[in-house]
Amino acid sequence: EQVLTSEREEIVENNLQHTLFSWQKQAGLKPLVINKAEGVYIWDMNGKRYLDFSSQLVNMNIGHGHPAIAEAVYKQMQEVSYVYPGMVTKARGELAKKLAEVAPGNLTKTLFTLGGADAIENAIKLARLHTGRHKIVALYQSYHGATHGAMAAGGDPRKLQVDAHLMPNVVHVENPHFYRCPWHSETPEQCRDRAIEHLERVVGYEGPDNIAAMIMEGESGTSGCIKYPPGYLKKVKQICEKHGILFIADEVMSGFGRTGKWFGVQNHDVEPDLLCFAKGATAGYLPLGGMMVSEEIARTFDEKPLPLGLTYSAHPVSCAAGVAVMEVYEKENLVERAAELGKYMEERVAALMQKHPSIGDFRNTGLLGCLELVKNRQTKVPMAPWNANATEMKIMSQLHARLFELGMYTMVRWNYVFICPPLTITEAQIDEGLEIISEALKIADAACN
Ligand code: PLP
Repeated sequence: EQVLTSEREEIVENNLQHTLFSWQKQAGLKPLVINKAEGVYIWDMNGKRYLDFSSQLVNMNIGHGHPAIAEAVYKQMQEVSYVYPGMVTKARGELAKKLAEVAPGNLTKTLFTLGGADAIENAIKLARLHTGRHKIVALYQSYHGATHGAMAAGGDPRKLQVDAHLMPNVVHVENPHFYRCPWHSETPEQCRDRAIEHLERVVGYEGPDNIAAMIMEGESGTSGCIKYPPGYLKKVKQICEKHGILFIADEVMSGFGRTGKWFGVQNHDVEPDLLCFAKGATAGYLPLGGMMVSEEIARTFDEKPLPLGLTYSAHPVSCAAGVAVMEVYEKENLVERAAELGKYMEERVAALMQKHPSIGDFRNTGLLGCLELVKNRQTKVPMAPWNANATEMKIMSQLHARLFELGMYTMVRWNYVFICPPLTITEAQIDEGLEIISEALKIADAACN
């Protein structure tokens, strides 16, 4: 026990002294040391088990420690660890072919990246190049990654700290967020129509001929799983088509079965011109992302050089992991499973809402779900405001700490508690997780008025 404690302290010390932690002030951090992960659970060095209810960062879609991925990665490492992206391996072609099969519309070719943000960067670059236009239209309540271009495209408040340095020429519009509709709509359809009118006005003001692309998440994730009202994305795509604007679907979080379809836009019957993915592509086992383009866009580079490149584009080992993960999705029917479990989750959370006045709204598609906590259901005053500071986050932080104490890891942001477990989770494990959440919600309930 003594040895374990000193070993753990050394690990924490090395990390705190010599690594930087994203998004947080660096003083006073107490990271968990995780040394075991299996299925929907992770264990810290004290042997304490945590139910992973947000699949880490909504990427561990097939759960932790799947033996098929370890095998595929080891095999690829032994065969070919790396070749530059001008040479090819079997896994690269196989994965790209599979992606073309499951992706919506005629997205035929993929440029592989290392993650989500660089996929977004490349998509923006290509959309501008293809159209010869410079502006990008995006939603305020969205997240597209943390590099300068991707962060500029997002509206997440984390960008405000670096506002002056962000990529120019991004124009934002309001989300069609029915629960908090900016136009005080009475139905989701009304909210949709007003959001579309607003978007059309903005396109007019900015000049449609200046707009290269609109970028939207396949289903909203980090910003609170804000649902698109029925028909919204289809109408967005129609506006794009009318003006020769490209539609980029950001499927980084919503892709690979997460929403009960291969990609989020398939819930909306929309065919994007470009599609960005990452996370679920390798289900977190190795870094890999990508940008898929339509046949039409791809063809424009048949006779001229494609000005995009990364040393680790299509890394053979990541691609091998991707092929193995795709096999798991198919063999274990995880896309359909997410849709079915999503219905179960919605029933169970509806019951939870009866018990907990602090749950204002639950928005969910497949297993991409989010509780929105409020102080009062009528007034909808959020438990923590958008871009809350530490003081405003007090209740939510206490709730987050309580979840850890009760043996759950999940993402908590502002007044949102994310419910995005691995697609392999069982109904019994969903119940187990919701019981923990129910217990922790007593803290939020007590703050209701
Ligand atoms: N786009 C969306 C919708 C995301 O959720 C994320 C990450 O959470 C990204 C892009 C950025 O991906 P990455 O962190 O791999 O750069």
